[in-house]
Amino acid sequence: MAQIDDLPPLRDVIAAHDLRAKKSLGQNFLLDLNLTARIARVGGSLEGARVLEVGPGPGGLTRALLAEGAEEVLAVEKDARCLPALAQIAAHYPGRLEVVSADALEIDPGAYLEAPWRVISNLPYNVGTELLIRWLTPPDWPPRWESLTLMFQREVAERIVAQPGGKAYGRLAILSQWRCDARIALSLPPEAFSPPPKVSSAVVHLTALPAPRFPAPPAVLERVVAKGFNQRRKMLRAALKGLAPDIEGTLRDAGLEPTMRAEQVPLEGWCALARALG
Ligand code: SAM
Repeated sequence: MAQIDDLPPLRDVIAAHDLRAKKSLGQNFLLDLNLTARIARVGGSLEGARVLEVGPGPGGLTRALLAEGAEEVLAVEKDARCLPALAQIAAHYPGRLEVVSADALEIDPGAYLEAPWRVISNLPYNVGTELLIRWLTPPDWPPRWESLTLMFQREVAERIVAQPGGKAYGRLAILSQWRCDARIALSLPPEAFSPPPKVSSAVVHLTALPAPRFPAPPAVLERVVAKGFNQRRKMLRAALKGLAPDIEGTLRDAGLEPTMRAEQVPLEGWCALARALG
């Protein structure tokens, strides 16, 4: 097992603080500090970086972020049982780790951390997609974060990087790829976690582009994509009925055939349609 600091091994930390994993909080811990160091490095060197980590748990990834040189880490953890273990890490890296005991869905990291920051998290699966969608749809672009390095169930990771033409392609792919470069950086088997989840996982890395790949009004794009994929087996003219008085004409104005299905429309086509509707 890698020695990245001289804090106790994670198994001992978990035993000492009685951190039995709770399913309701999506707790699947990473105990291999060699692996957490690899995740920390996915987006390149962390020297001098400010990092938001959601759900540090017993702190395996937190320790890797700090050992890899992050200047400031804001760790937001909902489970108060983890706080003593995290306080030990904070004491080991004076002035570099701030722990906030809160629900990540309820707080604004900007109240604690100066932008831009990177987000690096082994997310709780029950709130992961919701957090990603929030990060992808901020009020302004570019967002306050530079990059997102996030653990997801493999199936969700595949939806983020999916290309047109398959079942995985949908709202997540479009929102992710419209304004970010997105790639799967690592794949992890269930045994990488304690306790092991039922499915495989993957780390996705998204980098915010300075401007969208194609122009489109964000709220209209979100609405049309949500509606289009809500009835993904229907032709666009039926799935998008009611969005415009003459939806077939609007689709043609955007260069799309009204008989196409949502999963056949490339990102550029959705943006053209959002412009035609907006
Ligand atoms: N980062 C640790 C690791 O890699 O071992 C723990 C990852 S575990 C998959 C998810 C963590 O998120 C747990 O510690 C859980 O308590 C925490 N969590 C769950 N829901 C949360 C929420 N809404 N806000 C903040 N933390 C949350």
